[in-house]
Amino acid sequence: MKKLTTKFFAFAFVIGLASCSKNNDPINGQVNMTTSLANINQTVINLPTEALEDAEKARILFIREEEKLAYDVYQTMFDIYGVNVFQNIPNSELSHMEAMLTIIKKYNLTDPMETNARGVYVNPTLQALYTQLVSQGRVSLLAAYQVGATIEDLDISDLNSSLAVTNNQDVRLVYNFLNKGSRNHLRSFHKNIKNWNGTYTPIYITQAEFDAIVNSAMERF
Ligand code: MN
Ligand code: MN
Repeated sequence: MKKLTTKFFAFAFVIGLASCSKNNDPINGQVNMTTSLANINQTVINLPTEALEDAEKARILFIREEEKLAYDVYQTMFDIYGVNVFQNIPNSELSHMEAMLTIIKKYNLTDPMETNARGVYVNPTLQALYTQLVSQGRVSLLAAYQVGATIEDLDISDLNSSLAVTNNQDVRLVYNFLNKGSRNHLRSFHKNIKNWNGTYTPIYITQAEFDAIVNSAMERF
């Protein structure tokens, strides 16, 4: 029985690798997203254009900039510490920003991102968060991983509240895509925090939601 189980897992592992163009690597936060972004964009374009209320529009614009916050903070952390997780996860954030832009263009909204310059936002809350999170992350590599967990904690909470106000299939598809990415990022940061004997207490999602995410496997795209 033991032998069979081992064989099964070895087989499942090989199949798992084959289904992904790059290895998933939780410690480095690596999940290949290129194909999934192209698929998401195409599906968004193919889905019907449905009415959007002002509250839904506001959430879309906010999430677009909030993804930039994640991208910018991680890039700054990479400049300071040079660790892989802060190089791989921003690539994923870039795909989240792109997916939000696809929605913005489809619905003829005005992109709130006035500049690609790092650490510059239209939304004052995000502006203040950038300064605060970078200053926290400068303290140590462990603190930087905890900042990563805070960003993902915030993103999951905001994506869940955005999902609660929209029934448009295309918008929901993109939010769910971002949310899955955030759950994987949270798992990566949590693993790194544990490796440094650190802890993280969620601020935005509940402890139960947090535990359910970090105690489950990386999700594939
Ligand atoms: Mn993201
Ligand atoms: Mn993320």
